Amino acid sequence: MTRIVVVTSGKGGVGKTTCTANLGMALAQRDQRVAVVDADFGLRNLDLLLGLENRIVYTALDVLAEDCRLDQALVKDKRQPNLVLLPAAQNRSKESITPEQMSTLIAKIAEDKFDFVLVDCPAGIEMGFRNAIAAANEAIVVTTPEISAVRDADRVIGLLEANDIRNARLIVNRLKPAMVQEEQMMSVQDVQDILAIPLLGVIPDDERVIVSTNRGEPLVLEQKLSLAGLAFSNIARRLLGETVPFIDLNAPHDDIFARIKRFWRG
Ligand code: ADP
Ligand code: MG
Repeated sequence: MTRIVVVTSGKGGVGKTTCTANLGMALAQRDQRVAVVDADFGLRNLDLLLGLENRIVYTALDVLAEDCRLDQALVKDKRQPNLVLLPAAQNRSKESITPEQMSTLIAKIAEDKFDFVLVDCPAGIEMGFRNAIAAANEAIVVTTPEISAVRDADRVIGLLEANDIRNARLIVNRLKPAMVQEEQMMSVQDVQDILAIPLLGVIPDDERVIVSTNRGEPLVLEQKLSLAGLAFSNIARRLLGETVPFIDLNAPHDDIFARIKRFWRG
């Protein structure tokens, strides 16, 4: 059976598309056949994060209009044969597709024996959200440790439950451990206490994420994984049912002083 996972948040700009791109790639690296679906009609950018923007010929709307077959619209990743992208149409309103149409599309993808369909949700809780959750049987809720994002995540969790999606799990993105220690940022525990859904993972705030976004190369492709890349890779393993301990983000991983100390010790 194909697992259809919507990546959602409520608030925009918290890292849904970043998570979709990295988790899609990380699952594909673990021999899963993965289709990532951009449900952000009008503001698509999953193609950019994956570096596939120049290879788009058709979009989801062309499939629905029967102007092309599904397999013609699916963009294959050059680096990772297990991964394909179904692009959203650019310059269209979120009303250009209905939840029923989205379900039809995703059912078609599922027929094609994919292990995972990851649906990248647009911001908000209007039509675009309803489209993105229409076919989902699991959800990943992404939030940053900020009160406005957490409140929107809480709202979305309620809407997911109301739509019978009960297995929602949480990613806390852009954590800054030093700020948490100084009590200037909510801790993961604070966020979990409010949202009360199981924790899937925590991603540190890291400018390498922005660089990878701009390059169209998900962090999980790095030869030597950075902490954020490792965090994404661990989340993919948890999605596959492995028990993977959470990384201690408070440990001085990249700390220059730790490196100097190691140097002096030889
Ligand atoms: P959304 O899809 O929820 O709108 P994006 O995935 O597009 O959010 O991310 C919004 C911005 O935040 C992007 O510029 C991205 O590079 C940046 N970003 C996301 N996660 C992180 C992180 N862990 N550390 C630093 N920047 C991040
Ligand atoms: Mg996005």
